[in-house]
Amino acid sequence: MSLGNGGAPAHPHVVIVGGGFGGLYAAFALHRQPVRVTLVDRHNYHLFQPLLYQVATAGLSPGDIAQPIRQILRRSPNIAVVLAEATAVDLPTRRLGLADGELPYDFLVLATGVSHAYFGHDEWQPHAPGLKDLDDALEIRRRVLLAFEAAEREPVEARRRAWLTFVVVGGGPTGVELAGTLAEIARHALLRDFRVIDPTQSRIILLEAGSRVLSGFAESLSAAAARSLASLGVEVCTGSAVTRIARGIVEAGPIRIAAETVLWAAGVTASPLARTLGVPLDRAGRVLVEPDLTIPGHPEVFVIGDLATFLHQGGTPLPGMAPVAIQMGQHAVGNILRAVRGEAMRPFRYRNKGMMATIGRNAAVAEMGPVRLHGFVAWLVWVVVHILFLIGFKNRVLVMIQWAWAYVTFKRGVRLITGPRGLVPPPRD
Ligand SMILES: Cc1cc2nc3c(=O)[nH]c(=O)nc-3n(C[C@H](O)[C@H](O)[C@H](O)COP(=O)(O)OP(=O)(O)OC[C@H]3O[C@@H](n4cnc5c(N)ncnc54)[C@H](O)[C@@H]3O)c2cc1C
Repeated sequence: MSLGNGGAPAHPHVVIVGGGFGGLYAAFALHRQPVRVTLVDRHNYHLFQPLLYQVATAGLSPGDIAQPIRQILRRSPNIAVVLAEATAVDLPTRRLGLADGELPYDFLVLATGVSHAYFGHDEWQPHAPGLKDLDDALEIRRRVLLAFEAAEREPVEARRRAWLTFVVVGGGPTGVELAGTLAEIARHALLRDFRVIDPTQSRIILLEAGSRVLSGFAESLSAAAARSLASLGVEVCTGSAVTRIARGIVEAGPIRIAAETVLWAAGVTASPLARTLGVPLDRAGRVLVEPDLTIPGHPEVFVIGDLATFLHQGGTPLPGMAPVAIQMGQHAVGNILRAVRGEAMRPFRYRNKGMMATIGRNAAVAEMGPVRLHGFVAWLVWVVVHILFLIGFKNRVLVMIQWAWAYVTFKRGVRLITGPRGLVPPPRD
Protein backbone atom coordinates (compact mmCIF):
# COMPACT_ATOMS: atom_id res chain seq x y z
CA MET A 1 0.00 0.00 0.00
CA SER A 2 1.37 3.43 -0.91
CA LEU A 3 1.72 6.32 1.56
CA GLY A 4 0.00 9.65 1.15
CA ASN A 5 1.79 13.02 1.39
CA GLY A 6 1.38 13.31 5.14
CA GLY A 7 2.85 9.89 5.78
CA ALA A 8 -0.58 8.45 6.62
CA PRO A 9 -1.53 5.39 4.56
CA ALA A 10 -3.36 6.45 1.40
CA HIS A 11 -6.48 4.59 0.44
CA PRO A 12 -5.60 1.36 -1.37
CA HIS A 13 -5.73 1.57 -5.14
CA VAL A 14 -8.12 -0.88 -6.77
CA VAL A 15 -7.72 -1.28 -10.51
CA ILE A 16 -10.64 -2.88 -12.35
CA VAL A 17 -9.99 -3.97 -15.93
CA GLY A 18 -13.16 -4.21 -18.02
CA GLY A 19 -16.34 -2.16 -17.84
CA GLY A 20 -18.68 -5.00 -18.77
CA PHE A 21 -21.18 -6.49 -16.35
CA GLY A 22 -18.55 -7.82 -13.93
CA GLY A 23 -16.29 -4.76 -13.85
CA LEU A 24 -19.09 -2.20 -13.77
CA TYR A 25 -20.95 -3.82 -10.89
CA ALA A 26 -17.64 -4.19 -9.03
CA ALA A 27 -17.19 -0.44 -9.46
CA PHE A 28 -20.75 0.26 -8.28
CA ALA A 29 -20.03 -1.68 -5.09
CA LEU A 30 -16.97 0.51 -4.42
CA HIS A 31 -18.92 3.78 -4.69
CA ARG A 32 -17.70 6.09 -1.89
CA GLN A 33 -15.83 3.25 -0.16
CA PRO A 34 -12.40 3.94 1.42
CA VAL A 35 -10.49 2.92 -1.72
CA ARG A 36 -9.27 4.71 -4.84
CA VAL A 37 -10.58 2.99 -7.93
CA THR A 38 -9.44 3.11 -11.55
CA LEU A 39 -11.64 1.37 -14.10
CA VAL A 40 -9.81 0.62 -17.35
CA ASP A 41 -11.61 -0.31 -20.56
CA ARG A 42 -10.57 -0.23 -24.20
CA HIS A 43 -13.99 1.20 -25.07
CA ASN A 44 -15.54 4.25 -23.50
CA TYR A 45 -18.89 2.50 -23.11
CA HIS A 46 -20.57 -0.29 -21.22
CA LEU A 47 -22.38 -2.61 -23.58
CA PHE A 48 -25.63 -4.41 -22.80
CA GLN A 49 -24.70 -7.59 -24.68
CA PRO A 50 -28.03 -9.41 -24.21
CA LEU A 51 -29.62 -7.05 -26.74
CA LEU A 52 -26.68 -7.03 -29.16
CA TYR A 53 -28.52 -9.34 -31.55
CA GLN A 54 -31.18 -6.63 -31.85
CA VAL A 55 -28.56 -4.19 -33.16
CA ALA A 56 -27.26 -6.91 -35.50
CA THR A 57 -30.75 -7.35 -36.91
CA ALA A 58 -31.62 -3.64 -37.09
CA GLY A 59 -34.15 -3.65 -34.24
CA LEU A 60 -32.17 -1.26 -32.05
CA SER A 61 -29.47 1.29 -32.73
CA PRO A 62 -26.02 1.06 -31.09
CA GLY A 63 -26.68 3.99 -28.75
CA ASP A 64 -29.68 2.18 -27.29
CA ILE A 65 -27.55 -0.52 -25.70
CA ALA A 66 -24.28 1.30 -24.99
CA GLN A 67 -23.70 3.89 -22.31
CA PRO A 68 -20.51 5.90 -21.64
CA ILE A 69 -18.77 4.43 -18.60
CA ARG A 70 -17.75 7.90 -17.41
CA GLN A 71 -21.36 8.99 -17.42
CA ILE A 72 -22.50 5.93 -15.49
CA LEU A 73 -19.86 6.51 -12.80
CA ARG A 74 -19.91 10.31 -12.72
CA ARG A 75 -21.37 10.42 -9.21
CA SER A 76 -18.57 8.29 -7.75
CA PRO A 77 -15.76 10.71 -6.82
CA ASN A 78 -13.44 7.89 -5.77
CA ILE A 79 -13.64 6.18 -9.19
CA ALA A 80 -11.56 7.30 -12.20
CA VAL A 81 -12.12 5.94 -15.68
CA VAL A 82 -9.24 5.30 -18.08
CA LEU A 83 -9.69 4.48 -21.75
CA ALA A 84 -6.84 2.09 -22.49
CA GLU A 85 -6.02 -1.40 -23.69
CA ALA A 86 -4.58 -3.57 -20.90
CA THR A 87 -1.83 -5.77 -22.25
CA ALA A 88 -0.24 -7.65 -19.34
CA VAL A 89 -0.18 -8.11 -15.60
CA ASP A 90 3.15 -8.07 -13.76
CA LEU A 91 2.31 -9.88 -10.54
CA PRO A 92 5.63 -9.40 -8.66
CA THR A 93 5.66 -5.59 -9.11
CA ARG A 94 1.86 -5.23 -8.96
CA ARG A 95 1.64 -3.31 -12.20
CA LEU A 96 -0.92 -3.48 -14.98
CA GLY A 97 0.67 -2.98 -18.37
CA LEU A 98 -1.28 -0.79 -20.81
CA ALA A 99 -0.71 -0.38 -24.54
CA ASP A 100 0.48 3.14 -23.73
CA GLY A 101 1.74 3.01 -20.15
CA GLU A 102 1.20 1.18 -16.89
CA LEU A 103 -0.82 1.41 -13.70
CA PRO A 104 0.31 0.32 -10.23
CA TYR A 105 -2.31 -1.41 -8.09
CA ASP A 106 -2.86 -2.67 -4.57
CA PHE A 107 -5.79 -4.83 -5.69
CA LEU A 108 -6.59 -5.91 -9.22
CA VAL A 109 -9.93 -7.12 -10.60
CA LEU A 110 -9.74 -8.62 -14.08
CA ALA A 111 -13.02 -8.70 -15.98
CA THR A 112 -12.03 -8.61 -19.64
CA GLY A 113 -14.39 -11.39 -20.74
CA VAL A 114 -14.11 -13.61 -23.80
CA SER A 115 -14.29 -13.33 -27.57
CA HIS A 116 -15.32 -15.85 -30.19
CA ALA A 117 -13.18 -18.84 -31.13
CA TYR A 118 -13.19 -20.75 -34.39
CA PHE A 119 -11.95 -24.09 -33.03
CA GLY A 120 -8.51 -23.60 -34.57
CA HIS A 121 -9.92 -22.42 -37.91
CA ASP A 122 -9.19 -18.71 -37.79
CA GLU A 123 -9.46 -18.68 -41.59
CA TRP A 124 -13.25 -18.99 -41.11
CA GLN A 125 -13.46 -15.68 -39.30
CA PRO A 126 -13.72 -13.33 -42.32
CA HIS A 127 -16.54 -15.45 -43.75
CA ALA A 128 -18.47 -15.93 -40.52
CA PRO A 129 -18.41 -12.92 -38.18
CA GLY A 130 -19.26 -13.53 -34.54
CA LEU A 131 -21.36 -11.33 -32.29
CA LYS A 132 -19.58 -9.94 -29.26
CA ASP A 133 -19.25 -6.23 -29.72
CA LEU A 134 -20.95 -3.26 -31.37
CA ASP A 135 -18.60 -3.45 -34.35
CA ASP A 136 -19.57 -7.10 -34.82
CA ALA A 137 -23.26 -6.25 -34.62
CA LEU A 138 -22.93 -3.50 -37.23
CA GLU A 139 -20.93 -5.77 -39.51
CA ILE A 140 -23.59 -8.49 -39.26
CA ARG A 141 -26.31 -5.95 -39.92
CA ARG A 142 -24.43 -4.70 -42.97
CA ARG A 143 -23.99 -8.21 -44.36
CA VAL A 144 -27.61 -9.20 -43.78
CA LEU A 145 -29.11 -6.11 -45.39
CA LEU A 146 -26.65 -6.15 -48.28
CA ALA A 147 -27.44 -9.81 -48.94
CA PHE A 148 -31.05 -8.92 -49.72
CA GLU A 149 -29.89 -6.04 -51.92
CA ALA A 150 -27.46 -8.30 -53.79
CA ALA A 151 -30.16 -10.93 -54.27
CA GLU A 152 -32.50 -8.34 -55.76
CA ARG A 153 -29.93 -7.57 -58.49
CA GLU A 154 -28.64 -11.11 -59.04
CA PRO A 155 -29.74 -12.55 -62.42
CA VAL A 156 -28.45 -16.09 -61.84
CA GLU A 157 -30.99 -18.13 -59.90
CA ALA A 158 -28.46 -20.29 -58.00
CA ARG A 159 -26.49 -17.22 -56.95
CA ARG A 160 -29.66 -15.45 -55.89
CA ARG A 161 -30.57 -18.43 -53.72
CA ALA A 162 -27.11 -18.28 -52.11
CA TRP A 163 -27.66 -14.60 -51.28
CA LEU A 164 -30.98 -15.51 -49.70
CA THR A 165 -29.51 -18.31 -47.60
CA PHE A 166 -28.39 -17.41 -44.08
CA VAL A 167 -26.52 -19.91 -41.96
CA VAL A 168 -26.13 -19.42 -38.22
CA VAL A 169 -23.50 -21.67 -36.62
CA GLY A 170 -24.18 -22.54 -32.98
CA GLY A 171 -27.48 -23.32 -31.28
CA GLY A 172 -26.87 -21.54 -27.96
CA PRO A 173 -28.95 -18.51 -26.91
CA THR A 174 -27.18 -16.12 -29.31
CA GLY A 175 -27.56 -18.45 -32.31
CA VAL A 176 -31.20 -19.11 -31.53
CA GLU A 177 -31.93 -15.41 -31.09
CA LEU A 178 -30.16 -14.51 -34.33
CA ALA A 179 -31.83 -17.25 -36.37
CA GLY A 180 -35.30 -16.45 -35.04
CA THR A 181 -34.95 -12.73 -35.70
CA LEU A 182 -33.49 -13.27 -39.18
CA ALA A 183 -36.45 -15.47 -40.04
CA GLU A 184 -38.85 -12.75 -38.96
CA ILE A 185 -37.01 -10.09 -40.92
CA ALA A 186 -37.26 -12.24 -44.04
CA ARG A 187 -40.85 -13.39 -43.53
CA HIS A 188 -42.38 -10.18 -42.23
CA ALA A 189 -40.28 -7.02 -41.92
CA LEU A 190 -39.09 -7.01 -45.56
CA LEU A 191 -42.25 -8.54 -46.97
CA ARG A 192 -43.19 -5.71 -49.34
CA ASP A 193 -39.83 -3.98 -49.79
CA PHE A 194 -38.49 -5.77 -52.88
CA ARG A 195 -39.75 -6.14 -56.45
CA VAL A 196 -37.67 -9.00 -57.86
CA ILE A 197 -37.02 -11.28 -54.92
CA ASP A 198 -39.48 -12.69 -52.46
CA PRO A 199 -37.74 -12.36 -49.05
CA THR A 200 -40.06 -15.00 -47.62
CA GLN A 201 -38.25 -17.53 -49.80
CA SER A 202 -35.08 -16.98 -47.76
CA ARG A 203 -33.60 -20.00 -46.01
CA ILE A 204 -32.42 -19.58 -42.42
CA ILE A 205 -30.39 -22.60 -41.34
CA LEU A 206 -29.20 -23.15 -37.79
CA LEU A 207 -26.31 -25.61 -37.47
CA GLU A 208 -25.66 -27.10 -34.03
CA ALA A 209 -22.97 -29.69 -33.34
CA GLY A 210 -24.73 -31.12 -30.28
CA SER A 211 -27.91 -33.12 -30.12
CA ARG A 212 -30.17 -30.16 -29.24
CA VAL A 213 -30.34 -26.38 -29.31
CA LEU A 214 -30.07 -24.45 -26.01
CA SER A 215 -28.26 -27.36 -24.40
CA GLY A 216 -27.84 -25.39 -21.16
CA PHE A 217 -31.61 -25.50 -20.66
CA ALA A 218 -33.88 -28.39 -19.66
CA GLU A 219 -34.60 -30.80 -22.52
CA SER A 220 -38.28 -29.84 -22.61
CA LEU A 221 -37.32 -26.20 -23.19
CA SER A 222 -34.82 -27.15 -25.91
CA ALA A 223 -37.62 -29.01 -27.64
CA ALA A 224 -39.96 -26.03 -27.24
CA ALA A 225 -37.31 -23.72 -28.70
CA ALA A 226 -36.77 -26.06 -31.66
CA ARG A 227 -40.55 -26.07 -32.31
CA SER A 228 -40.70 -22.27 -32.12
CA LEU A 229 -37.81 -22.00 -34.56
CA ALA A 230 -39.45 -24.47 -36.94
CA SER A 231 -42.69 -22.50 -36.84
CA LEU A 232 -40.71 -19.42 -37.91
CA GLY A 233 -39.33 -21.39 -40.83
CA VAL A 234 -35.82 -21.88 -39.43
CA GLU A 235 -34.23 -25.17 -40.52
CA VAL A 236 -32.58 -26.57 -37.39
CA CYS A 237 -29.82 -29.11 -38.08
CA THR A 238 -28.53 -30.72 -34.87
CA GLY A 239 -25.56 -33.11 -34.82
CA SER A 240 -24.05 -30.92 -37.53
CA ALA A 241 -20.53 -29.80 -36.63
CA VAL A 242 -19.17 -27.35 -39.19
CA THR A 243 -16.14 -28.72 -41.03
CA ARG A 244 -15.47 -25.95 -43.54
CA ILE A 245 -16.44 -22.35 -44.18
CA ALA A 246 -15.29 -20.47 -47.24
CA ARG A 247 -16.66 -17.63 -49.35
CA GLY A 248 -20.22 -18.65 -50.28
CA ILE A 249 -20.04 -22.15 -48.82
CA VAL A 250 -20.56 -23.93 -45.50
CA GLU A 251 -19.96 -27.63 -44.94
CA ALA A 252 -20.99 -29.74 -41.97
CA GLY A 253 -19.82 -33.26 -42.75
CA PRO A 254 -21.91 -34.41 -45.72
CA ILE A 255 -24.07 -31.27 -45.63
CA ARG A 256 -22.98 -28.62 -48.15
CA ILE A 257 -24.81 -25.30 -48.18
CA ALA A 258 -24.32 -22.48 -50.68
CA ALA A 259 -24.76 -19.38 -48.50
CA GLU A 260 -23.36 -15.90 -48.83
CA THR A 261 -24.12 -14.96 -45.22
CA VAL A 262 -22.76 -17.07 -42.38
CA LEU A 263 -22.92 -15.93 -38.77
CA TRP A 264 -20.84 -17.45 -36.00
CA ALA A 265 -22.36 -18.10 -32.59
CA ALA A 266 -20.24 -21.01 -31.38
CA GLY A 267 -17.21 -21.25 -29.15
CA VAL A 268 -15.41 -18.70 -27.03
CA THR A 269 -11.82 -17.96 -26.12
CA ALA A 270 -10.65 -15.99 -23.12
CA SER A 271 -9.19 -12.50 -23.25
CA PRO A 272 -5.42 -12.87 -23.87
CA LEU A 273 -4.75 -10.93 -20.66
CA ALA A 274 -5.37 -14.18 -18.74
CA ARG A 275 -2.27 -15.80 -20.24
CA THR A 276 0.00 -13.10 -18.84
CA LEU A 277 -0.87 -14.15 -15.27
CA GLY A 278 1.00 -17.45 -15.54
CA VAL A 279 -1.66 -19.33 -13.54
CA PRO A 280 -3.68 -22.45 -14.49
CA LEU A 281 -6.21 -21.89 -17.28
CA ASP A 282 -8.96 -24.07 -18.74
CA ARG A 283 -9.05 -25.17 -22.39
CA ALA A 284 -10.64 -21.90 -23.50
CA GLY A 285 -7.92 -19.92 -21.71
CA ARG A 286 -10.14 -18.86 -18.78
CA VAL A 287 -8.59 -18.54 -15.33
CA LEU A 288 -9.29 -21.32 -12.82
CA VAL A 289 -10.05 -19.15 -9.82
CA GLU A 290 -9.91 -19.98 -6.12
CA PRO A 291 -13.15 -20.22 -4.08
CA ASP A 292 -12.81 -16.52 -3.09
CA LEU A 293 -12.28 -15.52 -6.79
CA THR A 294 -8.56 -14.77 -6.35
CA ILE A 295 -5.78 -16.48 -8.28
CA PRO A 296 -3.43 -18.99 -6.62
CA GLY A 297 -0.80 -17.30 -4.46
CA HIS A 298 -2.11 -13.77 -5.06
CA PRO A 299 -4.90 -12.74 -2.68
CA GLU A 300 -4.73 -9.23 -4.18
CA VAL A 301 -5.73 -10.34 -7.71
CA PHE A 302 -9.31 -11.31 -8.60
CA VAL A 303 -10.66 -12.70 -11.86
CA ILE A 304 -14.41 -12.51 -12.46
CA GLY A 305 -17.15 -12.92 -15.04
CA ASP A 306 -16.67 -14.71 -18.35
CA LEU A 307 -12.88 -14.67 -17.86
CA ALA A 308 -13.14 -16.88 -14.76
CA THR A 309 -13.82 -20.58 -14.50
CA PHE A 310 -15.32 -21.27 -11.08
CA LEU A 311 -15.41 -24.99 -10.25
CA HIS A 312 -16.23 -24.81 -6.55
CA GLN A 313 -20.01 -25.07 -6.80
CA GLY A 314 -21.11 -28.44 -8.09
CA GLY A 315 -17.90 -29.13 -10.03
CA THR A 316 -19.12 -27.83 -13.38
CA PRO A 317 -18.19 -24.29 -14.45
CA LEU A 318 -20.74 -21.55 -13.88
CA PRO A 319 -22.30 -20.37 -17.15
CA GLY A 320 -21.01 -17.29 -18.98
CA MET A 321 -23.96 -15.08 -18.09
CA ALA A 322 -24.49 -11.52 -16.94
CA PRO A 323 -25.84 -12.43 -13.45
CA VAL A 324 -22.77 -14.60 -12.77
CA ALA A 325 -20.45 -11.73 -13.74
CA ILE A 326 -22.45 -9.21 -11.68
CA GLN A 327 -22.49 -11.36 -8.55
CA MET A 328 -18.78 -12.17 -8.95
CA GLY A 329 -17.96 -8.45 -9.31
CA GLN A 330 -19.88 -7.59 -6.17
CA HIS A 331 -18.34 -10.46 -4.25
CA ALA A 332 -14.77 -9.74 -5.33
CA VAL A 333 -14.87 -6.14 -4.16
CA GLY A 334 -16.65 -7.24 -0.98
CA ASN A 335 -13.58 -9.38 -0.34
CA ILE A 336 -11.29 -6.44 -1.13
CA LEU A 337 -13.08 -4.30 1.45
CA ARG A 338 -12.83 -7.17 3.95
CA ALA A 339 -9.09 -7.42 3.30
CA VAL A 340 -8.72 -3.64 3.77
CA ARG A 341 -10.45 -3.96 7.15
CA GLY A 342 -8.16 -6.87 8.06
CA GLU A 343 -10.95 -9.44 7.86
CA ALA A 344 -10.86 -12.86 6.21
CA MET A 345 -12.14 -13.21 2.65
CA ARG A 346 -15.26 -15.25 1.99
CA PRO A 347 -15.85 -17.91 -0.66
CA PHE A 348 -18.13 -17.00 -3.57
CA ARG A 349 -21.49 -18.68 -3.99
CA TYR A 350 -23.66 -18.04 -7.07
CA ARG A 351 -27.35 -17.46 -6.44
CA ASN A 352 -29.00 -18.79 -9.58
CA LYS A 353 -31.93 -16.61 -10.59
CA GLY A 354 -32.53 -18.52 -13.80
CA MET A 355 -31.90 -18.03 -17.46
CA MET A 356 -33.86 -17.29 -20.58
CA ALA A 357 -33.56 -16.97 -24.32
CA THR A 358 -35.91 -15.37 -26.81
CA ILE A 359 -36.94 -16.90 -30.13
CA GLY A 360 -38.24 -14.33 -32.53
CA ARG A 361 -41.06 -11.90 -32.00
CA ASN A 362 -43.17 -13.48 -29.31
CA ALA A 363 -41.66 -16.67 -28.00
CA ALA A 364 -38.99 -17.42 -25.44
CA VAL A 365 -37.90 -20.08 -23.00
CA ALA A 366 -37.22 -19.35 -19.35
CA GLU A 367 -35.92 -21.59 -16.59
CA MET A 368 -36.08 -20.23 -13.05
CA GLY A 369 -35.39 -23.03 -10.57
CA PRO A 370 -38.23 -25.52 -10.89
CA VAL A 371 -40.29 -23.07 -12.99
CA ARG A 372 -40.06 -23.68 -16.74
CA LEU A 373 -41.85 -21.41 -19.16
CA HIS A 374 -42.00 -21.26 -22.91
CA GLY A 375 -43.93 -19.42 -25.59
CA PHE A 376 -45.52 -16.01 -25.17
CA VAL A 377 -45.57 -16.01 -21.35
CA ALA A 378 -41.82 -16.64 -21.29
CA TRP A 379 -41.37 -13.85 -23.84
CA LEU A 380 -43.24 -11.41 -21.58
CA VAL A 381 -41.01 -12.42 -18.65
CA TRP A 382 -37.99 -11.91 -20.92
CA VAL A 383 -39.12 -8.38 -21.85
CA VAL A 384 -39.79 -7.42 -18.20
CA VAL A 385 -36.43 -8.77 -17.02
CA HIS A 386 -34.61 -6.84 -19.74
CA ILE A 387 -36.46 -3.65 -18.87
CA LEU A 388 -35.46 -4.11 -15.23
CA PHE A 389 -31.82 -4.70 -16.15
CA LEU A 390 -31.76 -1.66 -18.42
CA ILE A 391 -33.44 0.60 -15.92
CA GLY A 392 -30.19 2.27 -14.86
CA PHE A 393 -29.78 3.57 -18.39
CA LYS A 394 -31.13 6.96 -19.36
CA ASN A 395 -34.36 6.68 -21.33
CA ARG A 396 -34.03 2.91 -21.47
CA VAL A 397 -37.58 2.20 -20.38
CA LEU A 398 -38.81 4.39 -23.21
CA VAL A 399 -36.50 2.66 -25.67
CA MET A 400 -37.64 -0.75 -24.50
CA ILE A 401 -41.29 0.17 -24.83
CA GLN A 402 -40.72 1.52 -28.34
CA TRP A 403 -38.67 -1.51 -29.22
CA ALA A 404 -41.22 -3.95 -27.78
CA TRP A 405 -43.95 -2.20 -29.80
CA ALA A 406 -41.88 -2.48 -32.97
CA TYR A 407 -41.28 -6.11 -32.10
CA VAL A 408 -44.99 -6.83 -31.74
CA THR A 409 -45.94 -4.97 -34.92
CA PHE A 410 -43.05 -6.37 -36.99
CA LYS A 411 -41.72 -2.87 -37.71
CA ARG A 412 -37.97 -2.77 -37.25
CA GLY A 413 -37.11 0.08 -34.89
CA VAL A 414 -34.11 1.26 -36.87
CA ARG A 415 -34.43 1.80 -40.61
CA LEU A 416 -31.19 1.80 -42.49
CA ILE A 417 -30.16 2.41 -46.04
CA THR A 418 -27.09 1.06 -47.73
CA GLY A 419 -24.55 3.25 -49.40
CA PRO A 420 -21.04 3.02 -50.85
CA ARG A 421 -19.52 3.27 -47.38
CA GLY A 422 -21.87 0.67 -45.93
CA LEU A 423 -24.88 1.60 -43.88
CA VAL A 424 -25.87 5.16 -43.17
CA PRO A 425 -28.89 6.47 -41.25
CA PRO A 426 -31.90 7.36 -43.39
CA PRO A 427 -32.56 11.03 -44.11
CA ARG A 428 -35.02 12.75 -41.83
CA ASP A 429 -38.65 12.54 -42.95
C1 LIG B 1 -24.62 -11.66 -28.10
C2 LIG B 1 -24.64 -11.99 -26.64
C3 LIG B 1 -25.85 -12.17 -25.99
C4 LIG B 1 -25.88 -12.47 -24.63
N1 LIG B 1 -27.09 -12.64 -24.01
C5 LIG B 1 -27.12 -12.85 -22.67
C6 LIG B 1 -28.37 -12.95 -21.99
O1 LIG B 1 -29.44 -12.85 -22.60
N2 LIG B 1 -28.36 -13.15 -20.65
C7 LIG B 1 -27.19 -13.24 -19.95
O2 LIG B 1 -27.22 -13.40 -18.73
N3 LIG B 1 -26.00 -13.18 -20.57
C8 LIG B 1 -25.94 -12.98 -21.91
N4 LIG B 1 -24.73 -12.89 -22.55
C9 LIG B 1 -23.50 -13.13 -21.78
C10 LIG B 1 -23.13 -11.90 -20.97
O3 LIG B 1 -23.20 -10.75 -21.78
C11 LIG B 1 -21.73 -12.11 -20.42
O4 LIG B 1 -21.75 -13.25 -19.59
C12 LIG B 1 -21.27 -10.91 -19.62
O5 LIG B 1 -21.20 -9.78 -20.43
C13 LIG B 1 -19.90 -11.17 -18.99
O6 LIG B 1 -19.49 -10.03 -18.32
P1 LIG B 1 -17.94 -9.71 -18.16
O7 LIG B 1 -17.87 -8.48 -17.33
O8 LIG B 1 -17.23 -10.90 -17.69
O9 LIG B 1 -17.40 -9.44 -19.62
P2 LIG B 1 -17.92 -8.42 -20.72
O10 LIG B 1 -19.29 -7.95 -20.42
O11 LIG B 1 -17.66 -9.07 -22.01
O12 LIG B 1 -16.97 -7.15 -20.55
C14 LIG B 1 -15.61 -7.19 -20.86
C15 LIG B 1 -15.12 -5.76 -20.93
O13 LIG B 1 -13.70 -5.77 -20.95
C16 LIG B 1 -13.24 -4.86 -21.92
N5 LIG B 1 -11.93 -5.36 -22.34
C17 LIG B 1 -11.65 -6.56 -22.93
N6 LIG B 1 -10.34 -6.69 -23.11
C18 LIG B 1 -9.76 -5.56 -22.64
C19 LIG B 1 -8.41 -5.11 -22.55
N7 LIG B 1 -7.39 -5.85 -22.94
N8 LIG B 1 -8.19 -3.89 -22.02
C20 LIG B 1 -9.21 -3.11 -21.60
N9 LIG B 1 -10.50 -3.50 -21.66
C21 LIG B 1 -10.76 -4.72 -22.17
C22 LIG B 1 -14.29 -4.89 -23.00
O14 LIG B 1 -14.27 -3.70 -23.77
C23 LIG B 1 -15.56 -5.03 -22.18
O15 LIG B 1 -16.10 -3.78 -21.82
C24 LIG B 1 -24.67 -12.59 -23.90
C25 LIG B 1 -23.45 -12.40 -24.57
C26 LIG B 1 -23.43 -12.09 -25.92
C27 LIG B 1 -22.11 -11.88 -26.61
